[in-house]
Amino acid sequence: MGKRRGGNKSSASCSGKSSYSNGFLVADATCGGVNDEVVDVAEERTESSNLEDSPEVKALVGSDKTSADYYFDSYSHFGIHEEMLKDVVRTKTYQNVIYQNAFIFRNKVVLDVGAGTGILSLFCAKAGAKHVYAVECSLMADMAKEIVQANGFSNVITVLKGKIEEVDLPVTHVDVIISEWMGYFLLFENMLNTVLYARDKWLINDGIVLPDKTSLYLTAIEDAEYKEDKIEFWNNVYGFDMSCIKKQAMMEPLVDTVDQNQIVTNCLLLKTMDISKMVAGDVSFTVPFKLVAERNDFIHALVAYFDVAFTRCHKLMGFSTGPRSKCTHWKQTVLYLEDVLTICEGEALVGSMSVEPNKKNHRDIDIMLKYSLNGRRCQVSNVQYYKMR
Ligand code: SAH
Repeated sequence: MGKRRGGNKSSASCSGKSSYSNGFLVADATCGGVNDEVVDVAEERTESSNLEDSPEVKALVGSDKTSADYYFDSYSHFGIHEEMLKDVVRTKTYQNVIYQNAFIFRNKVVLDVGAGTGILSLFCAKAGAKHVYAVECSLMADMAKEIVQANGFSNVITVLKGKIEEVDLPVTHVDVIISEWMGYFLLFENMLNTVLYARDKWLINDGIVLPDKTSLYLTAIEDAEYKEDKIEFWNNVYGFDMSCIKKQAMMEPLVDTVDQNQIVTNCLLLKTMDISKMVAGDVSFTVPFKLVAERNDFIHALVAYFDVAFTRCHKLMGFSTGPRSKCTHWKQTVLYLEDVLTICEGEALVGSMSVEPNKKNHRDIDIMLKYSLNGRRCQVSNVQYYKMR
């Protein structure tokens, strides 16, 4: 999973060092009295000799899973779903898209690719779908089944536990595919290919994929303070030289919030993907860029983020994960540069970015950045490699 300033994906805090936020309450919610109560109850029961086998304790913690069960599949744990559901920019956009465009769903067969808790399937059922197939490969599928039942939608939603690539759908075609597949840096985890697989296998000819457009953007930021903290830190750790770790730290894109005041150049549209038409190979690409400084400043990093659009709605809908928009759990992706660039207003940082899934693990992303600045105060040309793991 991506590395980030604010911990891992299950810590949903949107704080980072940004001065704005959309008011997520995840951090507070997970530290509150509810959890304390659970701990108290669990501690009281430690007197019981067969604690682990106790059905009450199993029920209390939800299952008998250990950390080893979650290691390879974080989506089985509720924490990651809590974070996604509490990302109101994300979840509200999907809800609005579905409720305000009921004409897309009414009496239609819908496939929810990677259903998680089943939230999108529930929205679709409520909007009048004839039937929704909710496919989820993690253990959360069991919860989704219960949730569907508890909310009285068992006759409309069928939860299928398994991988899209392996599951048997009881129908040959679906009218609509809905999915929330986007990863950090848009493509991390490479779930887009799963959506494309489902589209090619089951979607009718003039069927609808939601969302259907996504765009990747690039900009450059001043980030002296945080680069010092994250990268230069390794030069002197309690008096010891740990700079060998610096190389690794440089290679890992950092997922975190960036303050819009740090932006030094224009924000450039790098690449647009049409999910209704693209092929799997399109997730590998090389695109040129030209970032023009809007003021005299230093550049420490490039920052990538993405937008998602639902163009088949009555009115265009979507959201951005950029630094000028309300914070989402995707935050932004920061790529530190080895060189500190001294750039003058009007000068251009030019180069190219290559992105491709890692050959050994196709869920990881390899990024190559070529850049050069031929300015009045700084001349630099470099190639850097990053790995999102
Ligand atoms: N739709 C939910 C969950 C989105 S996260 C929501 O919007 O809240 C993506 C989900 O897709 C995860 O739960 C993950 O386990 C599931 N997933 C990823 N790859 C999958 C695959 N190949 N087949 C089925 N489910 C998959």
